[in-house]
Amino acid sequence: MTDQTARLLIVGPQGSGKGTQGVRIAEAFGIPAISTGDMFRAAVAAGTDLGNQVKTLIEAGNLVPDELTSAVVADRLAQEDAADGFLLDGYPRNLGQVADLDAFLEARGEKIDAVIELNVPREESIARLTQRAQEQGRTDDTEEVIANRLGIYERETAPILGVYRERGAVDTIDGVGSLDEITERIVAALEQRGLTRRALA
Ligand code: AMP
Repeated sequence: MTDQTARLLIVGPQGSGKGTQGVRIAEAFGIPAISTGDMFRAAVAAGTDLGNQVKTLIEAGNLVPDELTSAVVADRLAQEDAADGFLLDGYPRNLGQVADLDAFLEARGEKIDAVIELNVPREESIARLTQRAQEQGRTDDTEEVIANRLGIYERETAPILGVYRERGAVDTIDGVGSLDEITERIVAALEQRGLTRRALA
C-alpha cells in the first residue's frame, strides 16, 4: 500500500525511448504504464471493432481521431489499477487531447503530477527507429511513415509541452545514454518533486 499517487506523462518523439523508459518508471513507482499505441496495436491484432477503425490510420502514421482516442483512455483510466496513479505514454498527443484529459481528471479531482520530456536529437531518433524496424518489423516503422510521424510530433505534439510547462509540470530529461542512466535521471527528477519510488515489500 502507498499513500502517494503518481500521475505521470512521458512525452518525446518516436524513437526517443519513451516506451521503454515509461515501462521502467511505471514499475519503479508501482503504477500501470498505459500506452495508447500499444492499446491500438493490440486491438488491430485482435481484429476488434476498434482495431478495424484505426488500422489504416496507424499504418500511415496518422493520428486516430481525438474523440475515439480520449474515450479509449478514459475507459482505461477508470479501471481500478489506475486509481492511485498511472503513466501515460503517447497520450495526450495534441492540444485537443490535453483538454480531454484535463476534463476527465478534473471531474475526479485529480491532476497530472509530472510530465517527463525525453530529449533526443532527431538523427538519434531516426537511427533507433530504423533499428526497431529491423528488429520488430512494425508496419509503421518504414522511412516514409517515420518522417510523417516525426512531422506530426513536431507540429501537433510538441506544443502540448508549452501548456504543461506553464503549469510547472515538465521535467526535461536528456534521453541519450544507457537505459539505466536515463531511468536514473528520470527518477531523480521525479524525486525532486517529492514523488518517491514505491518501497519494495
Ligand atoms: P505510438 O506507439 O505511440 O507511436 O503510436 C502508434 C500509432 O498509434 C500512432 O502513429 C497513431 O496512429 C496511433 N496513436 C497512438 N496514440 C495516439 C493518440 N494519443 N492520438 C492519436 N493517435 C494515436
